[in-house]
Amino acid sequence: MTDLPVLDHWIGGSLAAGTSDRTGPVYDPALGEVTKHVRYGSADDVDAAVATARAAFAGKGGWGRSSIAKRQTVMFAFRAILHERRDELAALLTSEHGKVLSDAAGEVARGIEVVEFACSMPHVSKGAYSQSVSTDVDVYSIKEPLGVVGIISPFNFPAMVPMWFFPLAIATGNTVVLKPSEKDPSVANWLAAALTEAGLPDGVLNVVHGDKEAVDRLLVHPDVASISFVGSTPIARHVYETGTRHGKRVQALGGAKNHMLVLPDADLDLAADAAVNAGFGSAGERCMAISVLLAVDPVGDELVAKIQERMANLVTGDGRKGADMGPLITREHRDKVAGYLEVAATDGASVVVDGRGVEADGAADGFWLGPSLVDHVATTSTVYTDEIFGPVLSIVRVASYAEGLELINSGQFGNGTAIFTNDGGAARRFQQDVEVGMIGINVPIPVPVAYHSFGGWKASLFGDSKAYGPAGMDFFTREKAVTSRWLDPSHGGLNLGFPQNE
Ligand code: NAD
Repeated sequence: MTDLPVLDHWIGGSLAAGTSDRTGPVYDPALGEVTKHVRYGSADDVDAAVATARAAFAGKGGWGRSSIAKRQTVMFAFRAILHERRDELAALLTSEHGKVLSDAAGEVARGIEVVEFACSMPHVSKGAYSQSVSTDVDVYSIKEPLGVVGIISPFNFPAMVPMWFFPLAIATGNTVVLKPSEKDPSVANWLAAALTEAGLPDGVLNVVHGDKEAVDRLLVHPDVASISFVGSTPIARHVYETGTRHGKRVQALGGAKNHMLVLPDADLDLAADAAVNAGFGSAGERCMAISVLLAVDPVGDELVAKIQERMANLVTGDGRKGADMGPLITREHRDKVAGYLEVAATDGASVVVDGRGVEADGAADGFWLGPSLVDHVATTSTVYTDEIFGPVLSIVRVASYAEGLELINSGQFGNGTAIFTNDGGAARRFQQDVEVGMIGINVPIPVPVAYHSFGGWKASLFGDSKAYGPAGMDFFTREKAVTSRWLDPSHGGLNLGFPQNE
């Protein structure tokens, strides 16, 4: 290792080096250079973080028993810090992820939305009360925190995805061990430090950096009550199966291949704008990116021409310099994505715009791949079937709405989809027929607002619970139903029958 800085874990309210010697490089993808290293936590480091979180949760003075007022005060203060320093956070995010600054700011804004929802937790987490369900008997439900919860997040939204979970976990009284992506880990420490500044007691949010070793320990640790995971489908499946086998509540959000269906009556200019924005924003490294456009005959040629025209104006480059699209996350990932352009040609598709060899506005070693457009993609090609997770937009020509719908419904994923049309009846039919968790009607990236819930179907979500919104609040709490009677002499007497209400 060189004399570059090393990013520590965050345990018990301060930085901690942990016990492991293993580290990994963190790149600035627009420079193509390693700028720091990050520690890879061992099982012992996870155990230390869980023990710290457990101690912070438990007992009379623990976070699990903290008042709603206290939790709300922390959340409001955290929100204020995020607002004041959002540019600083976005810049840090861009320096490790590569997405352009405006996009990083957008990610932070969507994270803040969830913090705001968490500020409303006193209202959202209220239980129900039924008076006199039987003579002098009342029934009410109360929601209690789970204990220590684990969160494992991907590289593509290093601020927003952890914020899908930890604000709600904390606002409902849980304590947290977060294992962020090792590719862009600094944002997690920034958020943890901001929460401390906001008044969160030490040990309520802990960050353990690392890879599979740390994740696998979290999945089996007896004191971890639940796992919230976001990442690729094979790892989501592993997390779900291992976590549930060890008795945990698990929500594991996986990969995607989102289709946009353009009907012939759609406004093709708006559809072309949407396809370019949703296909190439964040270099296609979004789980809600549009990666396949289904053009219903006869609009394909005109739509492809309009998309191509718009792509000619896109600047790929360093996200700090006003480019439209930044680099990919690593050199290996860039090469893998570029490889699909080779496959496309071999499989008989036409590569209309080839992003290899793009002249990027940035350092020569940056992990560049320009926006790429592939037409007439065969649905048997891996360009169609794989999640590419890069700036490659595939066009598939279909003869009808029914053919497009059938393609969407037969895919392995069911994260997001969009229909572009001016026909309200067709849109309504689509919303009913399509087997996907999040649907856009003339909206290409239908990420629900924080007071609804986020999640896909099929291989895009393992488990029963979506992220954030009411589903998130339910996920992080368990309910007690209390049946109560204040004793009265008239209640005496023996009766061994099953209680009935009178
Ligand atoms: P990834 O699956 O490689 O990594 C996700 C997390 O799992 C990271 O913290 C990583 O350290 C850990 N991990 C990686 N390999 C592991 C292993 N073998 N065992 C245990 N843990 C392991 O995903 P990524 O490349 O960081 O993120 C991109 C993926 O995430 C894409 O597939 C994208 O669609 C998906 N994603 C999905 C959503 C959603 O809401 N459905 C949102 C964002 C990203």
